Amino acid sequence: MQLGVARIRTERLEVRLHVVGSSGTYPAPGRPASGYVVEQGQTRVWCDAGPGTFTALPFDSDLIDAVVISHQHPDHCSDLATAFHAWTYRPDPRNGVRVYGPQSVWDRLSDFLEKGPDSALNETFDFHPVSGGKRLEIGDLRISFVDMNHSVPTVGSVWEGHNRTLFYTGDTGPGSWKDSARDVDVVLSEASFQGSSSEKTVEHHLTAGEAGAIAREMGAGRLILTHIPPHLDVARSIHEAELAFDRPVGLATPGAALDI
Ligand SMILES: [Zn+2]
Repeated sequence: MQLGVARIRTERLEVRLHVVGSSGTYPAPGRPASGYVVEQGQTRVWCDAGPGTFTALPFDSDLIDAVVISHQHPDHCSDLATAFHAWTYRPDPRNGVRVYGPQSVWDRLSDFLEKGPDSALNETFDFHPVSGGKRLEIGDLRISFVDMNHSVPTVGSVWEGHNRTLFYTGDTGPGSWKDSARDVDVVLSEASFQGSSSEKTVEHHLTAGEAGAIAREMGAGRLILTHIPPHLDVARSIHEAELAFDRPVGLATPGAALDI
């Protein structure tokens, strides 16, 4: 009797978060601004394209299935311009890369690069506007969007795969968005400021303490801080977040890969 040989599944089952860049507001040497790749199975989605992230992607850029952009601010999307040049002007151009984000992302990119129906932008990218409540599937990942509290249209994103969930805030101040994603496994939260809420110079961002308190209210399993500007002491941000979250808090470090 010949026994059947079980086929060994080699593709990744877990949702994996690759931190490409996490520097808040502007990059620093070795620290690109905001950018991540969310991976499950054979699916890889680049989420936010801050300066320095294209050249730091953990995979050949041709393996990126789609791009999600939280909002139009350059520290979250300027490397779309880099990707456009790389994918458009090489000998074998890459066409039709799906990009999802608020309409204003596309409008700003078009203003900066090329406009009009004959623009190469329309060849290289296949843009789809999204806002809160929109759900979509990209390969093995399910993504739903949440309107955030920022100075321009901004979407947070809930990433689901293999019964695990990741919530990414993009840039935001406190708001009712926290009710849109309860009991997620991991919250990847911006923490642009330190100290008390009243010390913030811009209301549409979070202090580390606010990030910790909101993640606790959301029932998050884990909290990871990101978008901490280079001029702040990271250890203080972590400490303030841990006091509010009442548990250890992680830090998004470029090059790190985390199973959700
Ligand atoms: Zn912003």
